Amino acid sequence: MLAKLLVGGETIALRGDLGAGKTCFVRGLASGLSCDERQVSSPTFIVLQRYRGARIDLVHVDAYRLSNPEQLRDSGLELGAHDSVAAIEWSERVESELPADTITVSLAATSPTERAVTIHASDNFIERLGMSLRPRPCAICKAPVEFLGQTKPFCSKRCRDVDLGRWIDGRYQISRPIEQTDLDED
Ligand SMILES: [Zn+2]
Repeated sequence: MLAKLLVGGETIALRGDLGAGKTCFVRGLASGLSCDERQVSSPTFIVLQRYRGARIDLVHVDAYRLSNPEQLRDSGLELGAHDSVAAIEWSERVESELPADTITVSLAATSPTERAVTIHASDNFIERLGMSLRPRPCAICKAPVEFLGQTKPFCSKRCRDVDLGRWIDGRYQISRPIEQTDLDED
């Protein structure tokens, strides 16, 4: 969801202890930018990795092994490049190199399966993020659906079943003339 708001040139600083989910978050960013998220791994042995996205690329940086912040510049990373977004793990180590408008994402484990995510960014970015996190009306009954809802875009399993039932009944129809390409095997 955060990735959808990125336009290129942003720097995302990730904070959190080992196992907090920083790489998992980067995988989510990759998915949101239509990169191949399966390529995303903990890049502990390489400083940076670039994944090609549909609109903009994702540059995944691991600052863990850098002994001083200047080494970030030496790595060839160009922060603020408009064709990419940089996501930096262990960003505390390169703090002095980060642009003023860096988006900071802090992850903290609140239980083995839950994380608290705290995001610091410009007011404008936070406002846009807030709008995309707002509950949406259920596709069937219009009740509000939380953005993390398990049955999204439906409010409940019941409404999801109602939707499935409508497809089976044929009440949803695709109405346009059948074309030859629809009939071709592949
Ligand atoms: Zn519903």
